[in-house]
Amino acid sequence: MQKFGLIISLAFLFEASSLMAQSPEPINKSTQEQVREIVRHVLESNDEFVKKLPQDYFKELIHGQKPIATMVTCADSRLHTHALDIHPDGDLFLVRNIGNQVSTAEGSIEYGVRHLHTPVLFIIGHSSCGAVEAAMSRPAHLEPSIWRELDTIKVTGNKSDDHLQVKESVESNVNHQVSTALKKYATEVETGHLTIIGGVYDFRNDYSQGSGRLVLINVNGETDLAKIRKMPIVNFK
Ligand SMILES: [Zn+2]
Repeated sequence: MQKFGLIISLAFLFEASSLMAQSPEPINKSTQEQVREIVRHVLESNDEFVKKLPQDYFKELIHGQKPIATMVTCADSRLHTHALDIHPDGDLFLVRNIGNQVSTAEGSIEYGVRHLHTPVLFIIGHSSCGAVEAAMSRPAHLEPSIWRELDTIKVTGNKSDDHLQVKESVESNVNHQVSTALKKYATEVETGHLTIIGGVYDFRNDYSQGSGRLVLINVNGETDLAKIRKMPIVNFK
């Protein structure tokens, strides 16, 4: 009952409020107050989202999904769908984990590729990836459950404070995950039913194309950027 009362009062609070969503400010507040601010942020963001939409927006979502792509990304909070798809609802079958790994998310990816039949599987890493850095520096204090995932990440160096080595390891990992997926979905790729694309969401501007750009680095195992740029599926000029 207490929980029900809380939900009602929160619902009343947000019905009555038209405040813009604000980021939580975890400074000098008790944990309870921080949690309250976080819950408020999420509910207000949801409220703002719902109010912007036309009344019939959800009708077509009720009957099922037909996503345009399966997308594996890092769970990192700096990499979000709005950076890759402005209207992601119904578009992306999204699978997220630390370091955008394939082998620990096989079931979810399989569902997107073989049951929802998305014609594209994206695998998206990002600049300054903490999972890649941890796989490079191998800190001793991490739990076995985290190691099970980090051990599927392929890196090329061990200096996690060297930005160039991190960039190369992020690329190496994306290429490794694409290669893992290519082995599993060889038939779909060979018959043209699936294209596997690896990319890096570059908010550090490592590729000098501007911060926040998605840089495609692998298409069905092709990693030569000059050749990729000439491929009709990615050439829009
Ligand atoms: Zn990451």
